[in-house]
Amino acid sequence: MAHVSELISSNIDQYLKLHEQKSLLRFITCGSVDDGKSTLIGRLLFESKMLFEDQIAAVAADSRKYGTQGEEMDFALLVDGLAAEREQGITIDVAYRFFSTERRKFIVADTPGHEQYTRNMVTGASTADAAIMMVDARKGILTQTRRHSYLVSLLGIQHIVVAINKMDLVDYDEQTYQKIVDDYTVLADHLGLTDISFIPMSAFKGDNIIEQSANMPWYRGPALMPYLEQIEIDQDKLLSTPFRMAVQWVNRPNLDFRGFTGSIASGQVHPGDRIRVQPSGQESTVERIVTMDGDLSKAVAGQSITLTLNDEIDISRGDVISKVTGPAEIADQFECTLTWMHENPMLPGRPYLMKIGTRTVTATITDIKYQINVNTLEHLPAKTLDLNGIAVCNLSLDRPIAFDPYDQNRDTGGFILIDRINNSTIGAGLLHFALRRAHNIHMQPVDIDREARSRLKGQKSCVLWFTGLSGAGKSTIANAVEKRLHAMGHHTYLLDGDNVRHGLNKDLGFTDVDRVENIRRIAEVTKLMADAGLIVISAFISPFRAERDMARSLVNDNEFLEIHIDAPLEVAEQRDVKGLYRKARQGQLKNFTGIDSPYEAPESPELCIDTTSTSVDIAVEQVVAALQERGVLPL
Ligand code: ADP
Repeated sequence: MAHVSELISSNIDQYLKLHEQKSLLRFITCGSVDDGKSTLIGRLLFESKMLFEDQIAAVAADSRKYGTQGEEMDFALLVDGLAAEREQGITIDVAYRFFSTERRKFIVADTPGHEQYTRNMVTGASTADAAIMMVDARKGILTQTRRHSYLVSLLGIQHIVVAINKMDLVDYDEQTYQKIVDDYTVLADHLGLTDISFIPMSAFKGDNIIEQSANMPWYRGPALMPYLEQIEIDQDKLLSTPFRMAVQWVNRPNLDFRGFTGSIASGQVHPGDRIRVQPSGQESTVERIVTMDGDLSKAVAGQSITLTLNDEIDISRGDVISKVTGPAEIADQFECTLTWMHENPMLPGRPYLMKIGTRTVTATITDIKYQINVNTLEHLPAKTLDLNGIAVCNLSLDRPIAFDPYDQNRDTGGFILIDRINNSTIGAGLLHFALRRAHNIHMQPVDIDREARSRLKGQKSCVLWFTGLSGAGKSTIANAVEKRLHAMGHHTYLLDGDNVRHGLNKDLGFTDVDRVENIRRIAEVTKLMADAGLIVISAFISPFRAERDMARSLVNDNEFLEIHIDAPLEVAEQRDVKGLYRKARQGQLKNFTGIDSPYEAPESPELCIDTTSTSVDIAVEQVVAALQERGVLPL
């Protein structure tokens, strides 16, 4: 059987055309696992007749297979389309479902509620007009409900339906419903949410979904579907917001045509409009608005178009096209709200990839101002952010970007963070404003550069970054290498774990956060010294790949040699030069690399030296040979 979602999506185009005249409501569903989101969405799809006969037959068959009791079909099976998900018993990705009624068409982002998957909620929510907050009538308001409500308020979703579900399991009891209404009203007041409706229902039995249920005569409000049909959406707001289009790609099929393709995030554009490309600031005039169906005299938010301009200016993927009359702001440091979505905690100082619009840059959190307790909304101090943590932070980028505060424009003010190593989405955030320092600090241009400084020393500057377990032999080999280079007449400097920790970094300990900051400072010092024209030798455990990659990214490509000084833990521990392993084993030393703190070995170092089989002298030869190979030292 083809998956229902595939069948539905193959019909989307046809379907959207058919329903072009109707207004569109985008909404999300939020709630914990088993609150009944999938069942509700399945029910809405079913009731709106989006399902075809053969799919319904398949669901009926599946319901039997997966042991659903009684006559009802299990609509969750329909939505939890993937067999694997069904077997795990959770829904794992964000999925957009389309359906329509006589009066309106709908797109719902199905955002699974497993604690771990808050990210999907944020992703789905950034375009939503309404949110259905699922509450299990038996359980009432949970931490998850509070977290999702907080996010919904942050994300600026206008309309909230609190769906008090599974009423059949509490005998359609009015008091149970009323208690949840009272509790949620307190929460909503706290969050400043205003447009809220409460609907008692049973998605499974179909109570109050399409029409008012005879099982709850005490409820006089609308059923869910009629309610969703009449929610008013502010279409005009998006159109009156200043024009923004992030360039997805530069379309250059031949020398005669050069167009810039993207989807309009907000506002509208006409041929003849003066535009500005950001962040570069170059200006031009719109010549044509090209689409598959011919040229347009006007294009608005939501449309995908290709613009051609009157002037040949430099534009690339990731740039934002605005109008000169209402441009975006430009900055490289911000205050933001960040929600963390990964099991590995967020570490200030660690570089992450940030995707905003179609642009990807490198970002680090420079400061956590405070974390938010979603239950009490208290502000708490924090050094790191764990899974599902929400905090207000300062963010610093490796280059300026065009942006708008999120409350003015969701597309140009919302971003996600991506892990540089495994590419997974690990955070999502909203930009508040640019920090003033982003405008005030400029790099001082200097006339004497590193090239000039190293030339005077008769060498090429470079960084030798030694990494490895304590006792592997980093200091010993680094010291021998420096002696050799010095003897050859080169200008060097050796930065070593202990001497840096006694001075520059004496305020730092050995937690993950402090280790990241330790290496960040060392990497910055290394960069300055390389800039001074020196051959810099750094010998630090530097246990994490991310920070070694950051150190590498601070200097030119061919100037960084990562040297893994490798010895098995047993050997390093046996050497125990400083008696540290013994202390760690006795529990007197916490967070010791290799014992109770991880070491991430380099994946492709420029050089790997196994000190169980390589003598110090040979190791020095190998380093010198590597420098000669790269042209740092003469042959
Ligand atoms: P690290 O700086 O990595 O903590 P050290 O250089 O301080 O390690 O200590 C390494 C110890 O191992 C020293 O006592 C050194 O004499 C010994 N050792 C034995 N063989 C080697 C080798 N081939 N290379 C480097 N050190 C070695």
